[in-house]
Amino acid sequence: MESQHHLPTRAPSTPASRVAGVGPTVFATITAEAVRTGAANLGQGFPDEDGPAGMLRRAAAEITGGNNQYGPGRGLPSLRRAVAEDRARRLGHVVDPEDVLVTVGATEGIAAAVLGLVDRGREVVVLEPTYDAYSAAIGLAEAVARPVRLLLDDGRWHLDREQFAAAVADGPAAMILNSPHNPTGTVLGREDLEFIADTVRDTGVVVISDEVYERLAFDRPHVAFATLPGMQSRTVTLSSAAKSFNVTGWKTGWAIAPPALLDAVTAAKQFLSYVGVTPLQPAVAWALDNADDWSDRWGRTLRARRDRLAGVLHATGQDVLHSDGTYFLVSDIAPLRLGISAEEFCRALPEAVGVAAIPVSSFVEEVDEQVATLVRWTFCKADGTLDLAEERLLAADWTRLHKTSN
Ligand code: PMP
Ligand code: GLN
Repeated sequence: MESQHHLPTRAPSTPASRVAGVGPTVFATITAEAVRTGAANLGQGFPDEDGPAGMLRRAAAEITGGNNQYGPGRGLPSLRRAVAEDRARRLGHVVDPEDVLVTVGATEGIAAAVLGLVDRGREVVVLEPTYDAYSAAIGLAEAVARPVRLLLDDGRWHLDREQFAAAVADGPAAMILNSPHNPTGTVLGREDLEFIADTVRDTGVVVISDEVYERLAFDRPHVAFATLPGMQSRTVTLSSAAKSFNVTGWKTGWAIAPPALLDAVTAAKQFLSYVGVTPLQPAVAWALDNADDWSDRWGRTLRARRDRLAGVLHATGQDVLHSDGTYFLVSDIAPLRLGISAEEFCRALPEAVGVAAIPVSSFVEEVDEQVATLVRWTFCKADGTLDLAEERLLAADWTRLHKTSN
């Protein structure tokens, strides 16, 4: 206990500017509101069902069997081998296990890649709408995010090639690519990825390719960016067990890159967390080696749930945009004519309707007309949760959300 004699004579300093104004994430805030109101949580993307049983048993056995101390800095050889074999087998992405670094979730991979590879003041191109951890990591590195909007055309999102080329021409240090893409659910086609590759080919741009939804591409195959001609040497691929095997709480991910890049990522990573979580690594290796059947079944289930949720949202009168994969789909509430933004809609929805969702405006720097009425919904929840959401959405009295009745 601090005695009166030791009370500080000066007030502690205010937060550092790099975190000033940074509050809880939109995902945490909406989940807390969903819990408070008992809403069906279609906001934060985490499943409410477990992953492969063999993987869970293996983790338990590792813990009770005494595998509980620091492992090697780059991760356990068994997981690095399994990651390399899995990438080669499913995606044709041939890598040496030496080029794999185990991270504390893809989130740490994002931070370590940006901190390790981007100097203060340099630009990092991101595709908007953008997952929140990218701008946060760019902010921590005191670098500058350069958003390039995805274009919405006839319910589908595409790369804005002109804007992208202009951003690259300005000489950024890096770009963060994310396909399958959160929040839109878009799987970028090979042509867009080839355009990106051609644009960065003769530049110094490092491509940080966040592929956490690599197993959740339903309508179009996922292409590992590093497999495009000439791209392996400039790409840091990030992924994680979270979304592949329903273990968002395990925070076990990996970065894959050639030594020149991976050494820099490791230099930052080792002082963020030192090493990854030891006993979970053999369990994730087990899943990569053995759980393709589970994964295929889960993909089919998610796809059916996506179609179901799309049908429900459509029946409420919203426009539903196309989602090729991930946990997410986006709807446009404009046809409901509520006179409110998606942000206001999502703030009121848990209390008024008993469902939670996330406004797409949380994923952009500047809210414009294109995104102001867009809402992201996750369909990765159990049938019971989706039943509840369906019942409530179909019975909703939308006038309770109408601007004039607020
Ligand atoms: N990238 C994207 C695009 C995500 O949606 C998420 C959330 N799973 C992450 C990274 C973070 O992954 P992890 O939980 O492995 O840190
Ligand atoms: N990736 C999850 C989502 O987009 C959230 C992860 C988090 O809360 N950091 O919903």
